[in-house]
Amino acid sequence: MNNFLMNTYHRLPVTFVKGNGAWLYDSSEKPYLDFTSGIAVNCLGHNHPALVHAIAAQAEKLIHTCNYFQSETALLFAEKLVAACAGAFMKKVFLCNSGAEANEGACKIARKYSLAKYGPGRHTIVTLKGSFHGRTITTLSATGQEKFHKDFGPFTEGFVYIEGNDLNTLEKALDQKTVAGFLLEAVQGESGIRPQSDEFIGAAAKLCAERDILLMFDEIQCGLGRTGTFLACEQYGVKADVVTLAKGLAGGVPAGAFLAGEKTAEVLQTGDHGSTFGGNPLASAAGAVVLDTVANPVFLGEIKRKGQKFKTVLESWNHPHIKEIRARGMMLGIDLDIEAWPILEASLKDNPGLLLLSAGTNTLRLLPPYIISDAEIDQGLEILKKMLR
Ligand SMILES: *Cc1c(COP(=O)(O)O)cnc(C)c1O
Repeated sequence: MNNFLMNTYHRLPVTFVKGNGAWLYDSSEKPYLDFTSGIAVNCLGHNHPALVHAIAAQAEKLIHTCNYFQSETALLFAEKLVAACAGAFMKKVFLCNSGAEANEGACKIARKYSLAKYGPGRHTIVTLKGSFHGRTITTLSATGQEKFHKDFGPFTEGFVYIEGNDLNTLEKALDQKTVAGFLLEAVQGESGIRPQSDEFIGAAAKLCAERDILLMFDEIQCGLGRTGTFLACEQYGVKADVVTLAKGLAGGVPAGAFLAGEKTAEVLQTGDHGSTFGGNPLASAAGAVVLDTVANPVFLGEIKRKGQKFKTVLESWNHPHIKEIRARGMMLGIDLDIEAWPILEASLKDNPGLLLLSAGTNTLRLLPPYIISDAEIDQGLEILKKMLR
Protein backbone atom coordinates (compact mmCIF):
# COMPACT_ATOMS: atom_id res chain seq x y z
CA MET A 1 0.00 0.00 0.00
CA ASN A 2 1.21 3.55 -0.72
CA ASN A 3 2.16 5.35 2.46
CA PHE A 4 1.60 9.06 2.57
CA LEU A 5 2.18 9.33 6.32
CA MET A 6 5.42 11.05 7.28
CA ASN A 7 7.97 8.57 8.47
CA THR A 8 8.17 9.85 12.06
CA TYR A 9 7.47 6.63 13.97
CA HIS A 10 9.16 3.27 14.21
CA ARG A 11 5.96 1.38 13.46
CA LEU A 12 5.73 -2.34 14.13
CA PRO A 13 4.19 -4.49 11.37
CA VAL A 14 0.79 -5.04 13.02
CA THR A 15 -2.57 -3.45 12.17
CA PHE A 16 -5.15 -3.54 14.93
CA VAL A 17 -8.77 -3.53 13.86
CA LYS A 18 -10.65 -3.86 17.14
CA GLY A 19 -10.25 -4.08 20.89
CA ASN A 20 -12.10 -5.33 23.94
CA GLY A 21 -11.02 -4.74 27.55
CA ALA A 22 -7.30 -5.46 27.84
CA TRP A 23 -7.23 -7.18 24.41
CA LEU A 24 -6.55 -5.96 20.87
CA TYR A 25 -7.13 -7.94 17.67
CA ASP A 26 -5.25 -7.59 14.38
CA SER A 27 -6.59 -7.94 10.84
CA SER A 28 -6.17 -11.73 11.01
CA GLU A 29 -8.14 -11.90 14.33
CA LYS A 30 -5.00 -12.73 16.34
CA PRO A 31 -5.39 -11.52 19.97
CA TYR A 32 -2.85 -9.38 21.83
CA LEU A 33 -2.86 -8.63 25.54
CA ASP A 34 -2.24 -4.93 26.02
CA PHE A 35 0.31 -3.90 28.67
CA THR A 36 0.68 -0.43 27.07
CA SER A 37 -2.79 1.22 27.02
CA GLY A 38 -1.68 3.13 23.91
CA ILE A 39 0.99 4.79 26.12
CA ALA A 40 -1.25 5.38 29.16
CA VAL A 41 -4.17 6.62 27.03
CA ASN A 42 -6.66 3.73 26.99
CA CYS A 43 -6.74 3.68 30.78
CA LEU A 44 -10.20 2.03 30.80
CA GLY A 45 -9.07 -0.48 28.19
CA HIS A 46 -10.66 -0.84 24.78
CA ASN A 47 -14.35 -0.65 23.95
CA HIS A 48 -15.32 0.27 27.54
CA PRO A 49 -19.16 0.21 27.52
CA ALA A 50 -19.79 3.43 29.49
CA LEU A 51 -17.17 5.33 27.48
CA VAL A 52 -18.45 4.07 24.13
CA HIS A 53 -22.00 4.90 25.13
CA ALA A 54 -21.12 8.43 26.26
CA ILE A 55 -19.16 9.16 23.06
CA ALA A 56 -21.91 7.80 20.80
CA ALA A 57 -24.68 9.62 22.70
CA GLN A 58 -22.75 12.90 22.65
CA ALA A 59 -21.88 12.55 18.95
CA GLU A 60 -25.58 12.17 18.17
CA LYS A 61 -26.35 15.39 20.03
CA LEU A 62 -23.40 17.68 19.36
CA ILE A 63 -19.72 17.13 18.56
CA HIS A 64 -18.34 20.64 18.68
CA THR A 65 -19.22 24.23 19.34
CA CYS A 66 -16.52 26.84 19.59
CA ASN A 67 -15.46 28.42 22.86
CA TYR A 68 -17.38 31.63 22.08
CA PHE A 69 -20.42 29.91 23.62
CA GLN A 70 -21.31 28.26 26.91
CA SER A 71 -20.99 24.50 27.15
CA GLU A 72 -22.71 22.47 29.83
CA THR A 73 -20.65 19.40 28.94
CA ALA A 74 -17.40 21.32 29.41
CA LEU A 75 -18.61 22.90 32.67
CA LEU A 76 -19.54 19.50 34.07
CA PHE A 77 -16.23 17.96 33.00
CA ALA A 78 -14.28 20.89 34.51
CA GLU A 79 -16.17 20.58 37.79
CA LYS A 80 -15.39 16.86 38.04
CA LEU A 81 -11.76 17.48 37.09
CA VAL A 82 -11.17 20.19 39.69
CA ALA A 83 -12.82 17.94 42.30
CA ALA A 84 -10.59 15.00 41.26
CA CYS A 85 -7.51 17.23 41.65
CA ALA A 86 -8.51 18.52 45.10
CA GLY A 87 -5.63 16.52 46.60
CA ALA A 88 -3.24 18.94 44.87
CA PHE A 89 -5.42 21.94 45.83
CA MET A 90 -6.44 22.84 42.28
CA LYS A 91 -9.12 25.50 41.76
CA LYS A 92 -9.57 26.08 38.02
CA VAL A 93 -8.86 24.35 34.76
CA PHE A 94 -8.16 25.20 31.12
CA LEU A 95 -9.19 22.42 28.71
CA CYS A 96 -7.01 21.65 25.69
CA ASN A 97 -6.13 18.65 23.50
CA SER A 98 -2.72 17.21 24.25
CA GLY A 99 0.11 17.00 26.70
CA ALA A 100 2.38 19.42 24.90
CA GLU A 101 -0.44 21.94 24.78
CA ALA A 102 -1.09 21.50 28.52
CA ASN A 103 2.58 22.10 29.35
CA GLU A 104 2.66 25.15 27.07
CA GLY A 105 -0.19 26.50 29.18
CA ALA A 106 1.70 25.81 32.41
CA CYS A 107 4.70 27.76 31.07
CA LYS A 108 2.44 30.65 30.09
CA ILE A 109 0.94 30.79 33.61
CA ALA A 110 4.42 30.80 35.18
CA ARG A 111 5.70 33.54 32.86
CA LYS A 112 2.68 35.81 33.34
CA TYR A 113 2.41 35.25 37.10
CA SER A 114 6.03 36.25 37.59
CA LEU A 115 5.99 39.16 35.14
CA ALA A 116 2.90 40.69 36.73
CA LYS A 117 4.34 40.41 40.23
CA TYR A 118 8.07 40.97 39.78
CA GLY A 119 8.55 42.56 36.34
CA PRO A 120 10.78 41.35 33.48
CA GLY A 121 13.81 39.04 33.85
CA ARG A 122 12.30 36.45 36.16
CA HIS A 123 11.12 34.05 33.46
CA THR A 124 13.28 30.93 33.77
CA ILE A 125 11.56 27.56 34.10
CA VAL A 126 13.58 24.83 35.76
CA THR A 127 12.99 21.23 34.62
CA LEU A 128 14.70 17.88 35.22
CA LYS A 129 17.19 15.92 33.18
CA GLY A 130 15.52 12.82 31.75
CA SER A 131 12.16 14.57 31.66
CA PHE A 132 9.71 14.51 28.77
CA HIS A 133 7.30 17.40 28.32
CA GLY A 134 6.28 17.29 24.64
CA ARG A 135 7.32 17.86 21.03
CA THR A 136 6.47 21.49 20.31
CA ILE A 137 9.44 23.86 20.25
CA THR A 138 8.73 25.19 23.75
CA THR A 139 7.93 21.83 25.35
CA LEU A 140 11.03 20.37 23.67
CA SER A 141 12.91 23.27 25.25
CA ALA A 142 11.45 22.14 28.58
CA THR A 143 12.43 18.50 27.94
CA GLY A 144 15.75 17.70 29.59
CA GLN A 145 16.98 15.17 27.04
CA GLU A 146 19.56 16.05 24.37
CA LYS A 147 18.39 13.36 21.94
CA PHE A 148 15.11 15.21 21.28
CA HIS A 149 16.83 18.56 20.70
CA LYS A 150 19.08 17.91 17.75
CA ASP A 151 18.00 19.53 14.43
CA PHE A 152 15.29 21.82 15.81
CA GLY A 153 16.95 24.88 17.31
CA PRO A 154 16.89 27.68 18.11
CA PHE A 155 14.74 26.84 21.09
CA THR A 156 12.55 28.90 23.40
CA GLU A 157 14.78 30.76 25.85
CA GLY A 158 14.69 30.40 29.58
CA PHE A 159 14.84 26.70 30.40
CA VAL A 160 17.37 25.21 32.81
CA TYR A 161 17.76 21.46 33.48
CA ILE A 162 18.88 19.98 36.75
CA GLU A 163 19.49 16.46 38.01
CA GLY A 164 16.48 14.94 39.79
CA ASN A 165 16.78 13.70 43.39
CA ASP A 166 19.70 16.09 43.98
CA LEU A 167 19.02 18.57 46.79
CA ASN A 168 22.22 20.61 46.30
CA THR A 169 21.60 21.62 42.68
CA LEU A 170 17.95 22.25 43.49
CA GLU A 171 18.68 24.91 46.09
CA LYS A 172 20.97 26.80 43.67
CA ALA A 173 18.83 26.34 40.56
CA LEU A 174 15.66 27.70 42.16
CA ASP A 175 17.00 31.25 42.06
CA GLN A 176 14.48 33.72 43.40
CA LYS A 177 15.70 36.48 41.05
CA THR A 178 15.43 34.60 37.75
CA VAL A 179 13.10 31.60 38.13
CA ALA A 180 9.34 31.70 37.56
CA GLY A 181 8.51 28.00 37.81
CA PHE A 182 9.73 24.46 38.41
CA LEU A 183 8.09 21.90 36.09
CA LEU A 184 8.57 18.21 36.87
CA GLU A 185 7.13 14.73 36.63
CA ALA A 186 6.83 13.22 40.13
CA VAL A 187 7.48 9.92 38.34
CA GLN A 188 9.29 10.27 35.02
CA GLY A 189 7.56 8.09 32.43
CA GLU A 190 9.30 8.28 29.07
CA SER A 191 12.74 7.80 30.60
CA GLY A 192 11.73 4.51 32.27
CA ILE A 193 9.55 5.07 35.38
CA ARG A 194 11.89 7.11 37.58
CA PRO A 195 10.27 8.52 40.74
CA GLN A 196 11.54 11.58 42.59
CA SER A 197 12.21 11.03 46.29
CA ASP A 198 10.02 12.39 49.11
CA GLU A 199 12.98 14.50 50.27
CA PHE A 200 13.53 16.04 46.84
CA ILE A 201 9.89 16.98 46.23
CA GLY A 202 9.46 18.08 49.85
CA ALA A 203 12.48 20.39 49.54
CA ALA A 204 11.32 21.66 46.14
CA ALA A 205 7.87 22.51 47.54
CA LYS A 206 9.40 24.34 50.50
CA LEU A 207 11.85 26.35 48.36
CA CYS A 208 9.17 27.16 45.77
CA ALA A 209 6.79 28.39 48.47
CA GLU A 210 9.47 30.53 50.17
CA ARG A 211 10.67 32.05 46.90
CA ASP A 212 7.27 32.37 45.20
CA ILE A 213 8.34 30.04 42.36
CA LEU A 214 5.46 28.04 40.87
CA LEU A 215 5.59 24.30 41.56
CA MET A 216 4.17 22.66 38.45
CA PHE A 217 3.59 18.93 38.12
CA ASP A 218 3.46 17.31 34.69
CA GLU A 219 1.02 14.49 35.51
CA ILE A 220 0.39 13.61 31.87
CA GLN A 221 1.74 10.08 32.26
CA CYS A 222 1.89 9.50 36.04
CA GLY A 223 -1.44 11.18 36.85
CA LEU A 224 -5.05 10.08 36.38
CA GLY A 225 -4.78 7.24 38.85
CA ARG A 226 -1.73 5.59 37.28
CA THR A 227 0.25 5.46 40.56
CA GLY A 228 -2.77 4.54 42.72
CA THR A 229 -3.74 8.08 43.73
CA PHE A 230 -5.53 10.38 41.31
CA LEU A 231 -2.39 12.52 41.00
CA ALA A 232 1.09 11.19 41.69
CA CYS A 233 2.07 14.44 43.46
CA GLU A 234 -0.58 13.79 46.13
CA GLN A 235 1.61 11.06 47.57
CA TYR A 236 4.26 13.64 48.46
CA GLY A 237 1.87 15.73 50.57
CA VAL A 238 2.77 18.99 48.84
CA LYS A 239 0.69 21.83 47.49
CA ALA A 240 1.00 22.29 43.71
CA ASP A 241 0.53 25.58 41.86
CA VAL A 242 -0.12 24.02 38.44
CA VAL A 243 -0.92 20.47 37.30
CA THR A 244 -0.99 19.26 33.69
CA LEU A 245 -2.92 16.24 32.39
CA ALA A 246 -3.56 14.61 29.00
CA LYS A 247 -3.05 11.03 27.69
CA GLY A 248 -5.79 9.04 29.52
CA LEU A 249 -7.90 12.09 30.36
CA ALA A 250 -10.68 11.17 27.92
CA GLY A 251 -9.83 7.47 27.59
CA GLY A 252 -8.61 7.79 23.99
CA VAL A 253 -10.40 10.86 22.70
CA PRO A 254 -7.74 13.59 22.43
CA ALA A 255 -7.87 15.78 25.54
CA GLY A 256 -5.50 17.72 27.76
CA ALA A 257 -5.84 20.12 30.65
CA PHE A 258 -3.85 22.41 32.87
CA LEU A 259 -5.12 23.20 36.32
CA ALA A 260 -4.22 26.07 38.61
CA GLY A 261 -4.28 26.42 42.38
CA GLU A 262 -5.14 29.32 44.66
CA LYS A 263 -2.19 31.50 43.65
CA THR A 264 -2.52 30.91 39.94
CA ALA A 265 -6.23 30.37 39.23
CA GLU A 266 -6.82 33.94 38.02
CA VAL A 267 -3.53 34.53 36.15
CA LEU A 268 -4.92 33.89 32.67
CA GLN A 269 -7.71 36.28 31.77
CA THR A 270 -9.92 36.90 28.72
CA GLY A 271 -7.82 36.89 25.57
CA ASP A 272 -4.69 35.43 27.23
CA HIS A 273 -5.10 31.89 25.94
CA GLY A 274 -7.30 29.73 23.75
CA SER A 275 -7.65 26.48 21.87
CA THR A 276 -10.16 25.78 19.12
CA PHE A 277 -10.96 22.22 20.11
CA GLY A 278 -10.25 22.60 23.84
CA GLY A 279 -13.02 21.12 25.99
CA ASN A 280 -15.24 20.34 23.04
CA PRO A 281 -18.43 18.42 23.90
CA LEU A 282 -17.20 15.07 22.54
CA ALA A 283 -13.96 15.09 24.54
CA SER A 284 -15.69 16.50 27.63
CA ALA A 285 -18.38 13.79 27.59
CA ALA A 286 -15.69 11.10 27.28
CA GLY A 287 -13.56 12.73 29.99
CA ALA A 288 -16.49 12.83 32.41
CA VAL A 289 -16.81 9.03 32.15
CA VAL A 290 -13.09 8.56 32.83
CA LEU A 291 -13.32 10.78 35.92
CA ASP A 292 -16.53 9.14 37.18
CA THR A 293 -14.75 5.79 36.95
CA VAL A 294 -11.17 6.55 38.04
CA ALA A 295 -11.58 9.31 40.65
CA ASN A 296 -13.02 6.86 43.14
CA PRO A 297 -11.21 5.46 46.20
CA VAL A 298 -12.26 1.87 45.51
CA PHE A 299 -11.09 2.01 41.88
CA LEU A 300 -7.81 3.71 42.90
CA GLY A 301 -7.32 1.02 45.55
CA GLU A 302 -7.64 -1.63 42.85
CA ILE A 303 -4.97 0.13 40.75
CA LYS A 304 -2.64 -0.01 43.76
CA ARG A 305 -3.43 -3.66 44.38
CA LYS A 306 -2.96 -4.71 40.75
CA GLY A 307 0.26 -2.70 40.51
CA GLN A 308 1.55 -4.48 43.59
CA LYS A 309 0.61 -7.81 42.02
CA PHE A 310 2.67 -7.00 38.90
CA LYS A 311 5.62 -6.10 41.10
CA THR A 312 5.32 -9.13 43.39
CA VAL A 313 5.12 -11.60 40.49
CA LEU A 314 8.04 -9.97 38.63
CA GLU A 315 10.19 -9.99 41.78
CA SER A 316 9.31 -13.60 42.57
CA TRP A 317 11.06 -14.70 39.37
CA ASN A 318 14.46 -13.56 40.63
CA HIS A 319 15.20 -13.41 36.94
CA PRO A 320 18.86 -13.31 35.88
CA HIS A 321 18.07 -10.80 33.06
CA ILE A 322 16.17 -8.39 35.36
CA LYS A 323 18.46 -5.89 37.07
CA GLU A 324 15.92 -3.59 38.69
CA ILE A 325 12.15 -3.12 38.91
CA ARG A 326 10.72 0.34 39.60
CA ALA A 327 6.98 0.37 40.27
CA ARG A 328 4.49 3.05 41.25
CA GLY A 329 1.00 1.62 41.00
CA MET A 330 0.36 0.36 37.46
CA MET A 331 3.45 2.07 36.10
CA LEU A 332 6.44 -0.25 35.96
CA GLY A 333 9.98 0.05 34.63
CA ILE A 334 12.00 -3.14 34.27
CA ASP A 335 15.74 -2.71 33.70
CA LEU A 336 17.28 -5.62 31.79
CA ASP A 337 20.87 -6.64 31.23
CA ILE A 338 19.87 -7.25 27.59
CA GLU A 339 18.21 -5.01 24.98
CA ALA A 340 14.50 -4.37 25.49
CA TRP A 341 13.44 -3.94 21.86
CA PRO A 342 13.98 -7.62 20.77
CA ILE A 343 11.88 -8.73 23.79
CA LEU A 344 9.13 -6.34 22.73
CA GLU A 345 9.23 -7.65 19.13
CA ALA A 346 9.24 -11.30 20.22
CA SER A 347 6.28 -10.76 22.60
CA LEU A 348 4.35 -9.20 19.74
CA LYS A 349 4.98 -12.26 17.55
CA ASP A 350 3.90 -14.79 20.19
CA ASN A 351 0.31 -16.08 20.04
CA PRO A 352 -1.49 -14.62 21.87
CA GLY A 353 0.73 -11.59 21.50
CA LEU A 354 1.76 -9.30 24.33
CA LEU A 355 2.17 -5.55 23.85
CA LEU A 356 5.04 -3.92 25.74
CA LEU A 357 6.76 -0.54 25.68
CA SER A 358 10.44 0.17 25.97
CA ALA A 359 12.26 3.15 27.48
CA GLY A 360 15.81 3.67 26.30
CA THR A 361 17.86 0.63 25.27
CA ASN A 362 17.53 -1.68 28.24
CA THR A 363 14.25 -0.84 29.97
CA LEU A 364 10.79 -2.33 29.48
CA ARG A 365 7.91 -0.08 30.49
CA LEU A 366 4.48 -1.41 31.49
CA LEU A 367 1.39 0.83 31.52
CA PRO A 368 -1.49 -1.68 31.53
CA PRO A 369 -5.14 -0.63 31.34
CA TYR A 370 -6.69 -0.27 34.81
CA ILE A 371 -9.50 -2.73 34.02
CA ILE A 372 -7.12 -5.66 33.38
CA SER A 373 -8.07 -8.78 35.40
CA ASP A 374 -5.80 -10.72 37.73
CA ALA A 375 -5.90 -13.69 35.36
CA GLU A 376 -4.85 -11.45 32.46
CA ILE A 377 -1.97 -10.03 34.49
CA ASP A 378 -0.76 -13.60 35.16
CA GLN A 379 -1.21 -14.58 31.52
CA GLY A 380 0.72 -11.57 30.20
CA LEU A 381 3.54 -11.96 32.69
CA GLU A 382 3.90 -15.64 31.70
CA ILE A 383 4.41 -14.53 28.09
CA LEU A 384 7.00 -11.98 29.21
CA LYS A 385 8.80 -14.61 31.27
CA LYS A 386 8.92 -16.96 28.29
CA MET A 387 10.40 -14.16 26.12
CA LEU A 388 13.10 -13.41 28.69
CA ARG A 389 14.39 -16.97 28.57
C1 LIG B 1 3.25 12.07 26.58
C2 LIG B 1 3.75 13.11 27.49
C3 LIG B 1 3.74 14.46 27.13
C4 LIG B 1 3.31 14.94 25.76
O1 LIG B 1 1.99 14.65 25.48
P1 LIG B 1 1.43 14.79 23.98
O2 LIG B 1 -0.04 14.56 24.13
O3 LIG B 1 2.11 13.77 23.15
O4 LIG B 1 1.75 16.17 23.52
C5 LIG B 1 4.17 15.38 28.07
N1 LIG B 1 4.59 15.00 29.28
C6 LIG B 1 4.60 13.71 29.66
C7 LIG B 1 5.07 13.34 31.04
C8 LIG B 1 4.21 12.72 28.78
O5 LIG B 1 4.27 11.43 29.14
